[in-house]
Amino acid sequence: MKPTARRAQNPDIVSVNRVHRLTPNMVRITFSSEDMSVFSDGGVGGYCKLFLPQPDQTLTDFTAQIARKDRPAVRTYTVRNSRPDLGEIDIDFVDHGDNGPASAWAINATAGSFCGFAGANPLKRASFSADHYLIAADMSALTMAAATIEALPRDAVGSAFFEIETAADKQDIDAPAGLEIHWLVSDNPACPGAKIVAAIEEMDWPTGRVQTCFAGESTMARSLRLYALKEKNLPREDAYISGYWKFGLVEDEHKAFKRSEANGA
Ligand SMILES: Cc1cc2nc3c(=O)[nH]c(=O)nc-3n(C[C@H](O)[C@H](O)[C@H](O)COP(=O)(O)OP(=O)(O)OC[C@H]3O[C@@H](n4cnc5c(N)ncnc54)[C@H](O)[C@@H]3O)c2cc1C
Repeated sequence: MKPTARRAQNPDIVSVNRVHRLTPNMVRITFSSEDMSVFSDGGVGGYCKLFLPQPDQTLTDFTAQIARKDRPAVRTYTVRNSRPDLGEIDIDFVDHGDNGPASAWAINATAGSFCGFAGANPLKRASFSADHYLIAADMSALTMAAATIEALPRDAVGSAFFEIETAADKQDIDAPAGLEIHWLVSDNPACPGAKIVAAIEEMDWPTGRVQTCFAGESTMARSLRLYALKEKNLPREDAYISGYWKFGLVEDEHKAFKRSEANGA
């Protein structure tokens, strides 16, 4: 098995087996590789890097580009399902139109399409020791949040908030009986995550030890981070809070923005 750090420079080429419109704004792509070790560094809910070909680029040309380390557009995604016996994984892509290389690639993908794959990394919150779990995600982080919920102990108690584009974007999640899931339909695309922030701020903060798993649009994540860490004094070790994309910025710009925030700029 190749170390993930090295693989981020040397992605494997994987091909599309099936494309399925999971919900109105989510496309599920099933990837396959004859060598399952390509996928098996991490697992369900872990993130991976996708290296995206240009529209109409041939497999030969793309393979040569990767081999000479001429980096194409690279985007971050999450593994939803893994079927090692079949050499397959599923990744769910938010369809936000053709304004980004990953979304455009996904909505145009068909069986036989290809891209580069590096990862996947392990699930972020994999140690569970809370009295109450608080989970929140927009559609970009739905996979990670769903995988986290499905990994919780079966007697876990908590609340989950998902912001979706339409009521039909709701998904089935195998949640513990004590975890209440709230599906919030966005009513303002210019303020992604606003419904989640309002719901978390309006609820009674749970008593006992709380662990969070919050991810989605950057402004949403920032508001939730301030609220949980500063107003509710949540210990950092119990907080997984992450910006997955930023309204108006492409992924590389968002990463630069995150670095400048971390450096206190
Ligand atoms: C750890 C991690 C895991 C992730 N897992 C997933 C996943 O499994 N599925 C998934 O769909 N996304 C996931 N994302 C988010 C994804 O990486 C970003 O949405 C990425 O910007 C998409 O790339 P793009 O090429 O489509 O758009 P970009 O070229 O990055 O951006 C183009 C434009 O689209 C806007 N945009 C980007 N994402 C969205 C969105 N979700 N909704 C509306 N507008 C958007 C940008 O603000 C920009 O204006 C993950 C991000 C991280 C950090």
